[in-house]
Amino acid sequence: MPITKERAERIAKAHACVVCGEYTYKKLVVRPASAAVRHEVGAAWQAVKICGVCGAEQEMGIDEDGDVVYGG
Ligand SMILES: [Zn+2]
Repeated sequence: MPITKERAERIAKAHACVVCGEYTYKKLVVRPASAAVRHEVGAAWQAVKICGVCGAEQEMGIDEDGDVVYGG
């Protein structure tokens, strides 16, 4: 049973901005991983985050166990 979208959002928020190290995001969008991403890296969810401090946009992939498989 894969983790819920809500859980994936919490995991994404728990990872600091890769640029400035802050945990404040002005935008966070979690969506189901595309078939290609799911196949290539095993991600169940893709999170796109925009840092609320430095404005950096970053993406991360989260697998069905809640582990970060890329980005973050
Ligand atoms: Zn930042």
